[in-house]
Amino acid sequence: MLTLQHISKIYPMGDTVVHALDDVNLTFSSAEFVAVLGPSGCGKTTLLNIIGGLDRPDEGELIIAGRSTRNYSDREMDAYRNHSVGFVFQTYQLIPHQTVLANVELALTLSGVSAAQRRQRAADALVAVGLSDQLNKKPNQLSGGQMQRVSIARAMVNDPDVILADEPTGSLDSETSVQVLDQLKLLASDRLVIMVTHNRELAERYATRIVELKDGKVVSDSRPPEGGTEPAPGARQKKTSMGFLTALSLSLNNLLTKRARTLITAFAGSIGIIGIALILALSTGVNNYIDDIQKETMSSYPIVIEREAFNVSGMMSAMRGMRGSAPAHDLDAVYMDAQVATVMEDLTTGVSYNNLGDFKNYLEKEGNPMAPYLSDIRYGYDVQFDIYAVDKNGEIISAGDGGRFGIPAAFASFAPFSDSDFTELIPASEDGLVSDAAKGRYTLLAGEWPKNGAEVMLILDENNEIGEMTLYQLGFLPQADLRAVMGGETPPNPDKTDRWQFDQVIGRGFFLLAQSDYFIEDAKGLYRDIRGDRAALRLLVETAPRLTISGIVRAKDDQGFTSGAVGFTRAMTEGVITRSNESEAVLAQSAQQEINLHNGLQFSPQGEAEKAKETRLYVSFLQPGEKAVFAEQVIRLFPEALPTTGEGGESLGNQLPDGLTREQVTQLIQQFRSMADSPAGISGLNPGGSSSSAPLLEQWGMLPDSAREMISGLGDTQVSALLDTFIMNASDQTLALVYDALVSKQAGTWSEALADFGAVSLSAPSSISLYADTFENKDEIARLIKDYNEAADEGDRIVYTDYVALIISSITTIINVISYVLIAFVAVSLVVSSIMIGIITYISVLERTKEIGILRAVGASRKDISRVFTAEAFIIGLAAGILGVLIALVLTVPINVIVHRLAEDEMINAVLPAAGAVILVAVSTVLSLLAGFIPSRIAAGKDPVVALRTE
Ligand code: ADP
Ligand code: MG
Repeated sequence: MLTLQHISKIYPMGDTVVHALDDVNLTFSSAEFVAVLGPSGCGKTTLLNIIGGLDRPDEGELIIAGRSTRNYSDREMDAYRNHSVGFVFQTYQLIPHQTVLANVELALTLSGVSAAQRRQRAADALVAVGLSDQLNKKPNQLSGGQMQRVSIARAMVNDPDVILADEPTGSLDSETSVQVLDQLKLLASDRLVIMVTHNRELAERYATRIVELKDGKVVSDSRPPEGGTEPAPGARQKKTSMGFLTALSLSLNNLLTKRARTLITAFAGSIGIIGIALILALSTGVNNYIDDIQKETMSSYPIVIEREAFNVSGMMSAMRGMRGSAPAHDLDAVYMDAQVATVMEDLTTGVSYNNLGDFKNYLEKEGNPMAPYLSDIRYGYDVQFDIYAVDKNGEIISAGDGGRFGIPAAFASFAPFSDSDFTELIPASEDGLVSDAAKGRYTLLAGEWPKNGAEVMLILDENNEIGEMTLYQLGFLPQADLRAVMGGETPPNPDKTDRWQFDQVIGRGFFLLAQSDYFIEDAKGLYRDIRGDRAALRLLVETAPRLTISGIVRAKDDQGFTSGAVGFTRAMTEGVITRSNESEAVLAQSAQQEINLHNGLQFSPQGEAEKAKETRLYVSFLQPGEKAVFAEQVIRLFPEALPTTGEGGESLGNQLPDGLTREQVTQLIQQFRSMADSPAGISGLNPGGSSSSAPLLEQWGMLPDSAREMISGLGDTQVSALLDTFIMNASDQTLALVYDALVSKQAGTWSEALADFGAVSLSAPSSISLYADTFENKDEIARLIKDYNEAADEGDRIVYTDYVALIISSITTIINVISYVLIAFVAVSLVVSSIMIGIITYISVLERTKEIGILRAVGASRKDISRVFTAEAFIIGLAAGILGVLIALVLTVPINVIVHRLAEDEMINAVLPAAGAVILVAVSTVLSLLAGFIPSRIAAGKDPVVALRTE
């Protein structure tokens, strides 16, 4: 039961208004075929639209099933249209890009019927209107009558209570009109059918009731229902809604009808994405490249913390701060700028000693926060070793050492040169052999890089040359020649064009001796340094492990520092550590914590008697040469150790060098002692400085610069005899004094004794190298060191100079700047393509206005309409994204070719990362969804009545 009470609809028309409906009162029963007749413009369509809930009256009420629709919400209205009303229009109003079946299904789609059921019911409805064989045709492939029957099928598919047909036969010939009217009549058997028509004849033939309208007023009603007692069919109020999938398929079908345009739109939209994808691909390529470089750089330039650190940056800032700082005085007189004091202070405070033992513990602690950022840690130790060469005459030459001074006297012919001849090549972090970065600095001329610690490289300068002194040092040239040259003789071979074939050089060797190798157990169970014994040393050298030259490299000329002619590996150094720590002497001393195995002394004797005993023991163990040295020291401390003449001292006096009396010797010794104490140092021995000492000095040659030399003039045996006499006669007290002054130093401590044997304490490295893979990790490590320092005691703080940090920070800045510029590009292109997609969607809204009307007529809500266009934007965005990514993928191929040409390097490879591709497609989609937002809103706001009127 449907009732219209005092319905009016007024349209403004210029200055006046048009009463499309003017106080219409009508009641319809639930099953009748009502024909509404009236001239054009009398308000028939308006009436139907109001009954169908497409339009709302300005006045009056539409009462459905006893309930006024005045307070219906939009949703309720949508549901009413969808479930209770079916529209049939004069111009059919089918959606052109949907199939016949899909057009009919539409209403069911909105009411949430399952897909299978939907299809079935739509097909049934089409069968009922006689179109069983036309299901999959598009509307424009049908005749007018067929289209109108599709329209009827659509109207009835939801089994509505009311069917509203607005001039359904208006566009049809009389034959097809009859078919349509038959259909409607059939439907009217169990429901209300209201049909607007011009055709009075057809109306009278088919309708059960005729209502005539004129100028918005009901002028006649052939059969108004009696009373209002007919039970009202309950208005079905189930909500309607369109799934996003339905919206997608609607829009997809629409877009498919305009394939070319859609493709062009997607392509235009994809240009931004292509740009970004290419930038992303390139920057990924560059980043990968930088990562590689970083890894390489970081593996060669670790953070190195030395035991002895010089605070360069602190110094620099102090120097800078010195200038221009505000003075602490008035500007009223002449003041001193205390530069020297400041610099000296900085210099002294600039040097600090790092407690590397503690820091090592920290690094090795379980769960150390630095661990995730470290790719490797390498510890450097004070490793003591010597390298010997043998020249062609079989002469042994000390060729180099591990950076330690004090080459055995017998072989230290060229100490000043030996240090730089051997150098450790920058180790690769994995195996301690040579790092790729180090290899990059040289050109391999022959042979190969070391494969183990026993192999070394010969390093030539840019001209394939090695210094002459180095060649002597390495045993390439005979020592005898060098001595001859030094002695002013003409060398046997004055030819300056000596050359060696590469294959003559490869395989040449050196001998490697660890400090511990020099100590051999003697009969007393002590370990004696055999370096004083030439024969023993020769034997030792000849049986020492060999280092073989495995390859020859030339330093590239861009290398700023060429140090060393022979490069050895970290693996070799590590081998020396193991060898030293497992040597007999070190193992023996490790087990013996009471007695120093160098000299048999106790580490810590107690009391005078014990100390005196130690002194006597020490002297008894001394070799003749050592004894003389010791005697000289004792004499310096105790001049009375030199016996006076006449008291059995004549014999000694007789042995004094020509013209020297005992007093003179004593005087000399005392002078030496005061010189040693005086800060002026050696200048105290200046012949002009002291008149009394001048003749003495002249007698001894101009500068006898050590007391040892002086006393040695007496002869080792004589001085040793003096010492024995002194020791024999001296009291325990005196000997205890001698012990404290001289012997305790020799006894040393256990760890000193171990170190002297060449033991390397693994808990006390001399340097720690921290390796990171990336600059970020390195920064993080630096930050953690700062944290460590904050937590540590004053004396345990770690000081180091990070020379690479400056370069790194500028590189990071450049990378950031480039990123920001790229982001700006990205933003612009994305904005442009978004605006374009917005415009395209808006054009689509304009084009699909009629569809909006149809959708609303079959019950779509505003939200559903907005969803349809959102879906369209979504599809375009998605297509643009996918297209953009695909095009970019294709373009990376030629781009890589160009990049390789330009960079002359195959290292940079543009690659679009998978995640980036997915994100780009997502970004494109989201942006076009945003761009489609406003057009979708506009679509949702369209008045369905106006929309339906649009052609
Ligand atoms: P019919 O269907 O009987 O031909 P309509 O119901 O379409 O008549 O229109 C009734 C009157 O209302 C007409 O004079 C028409 O011009 C006017 N009218 C209908 N819709 C509008 C509108 N949206 N704006 C202004 N006038 C309108
Ligand atoms: Mg009309």
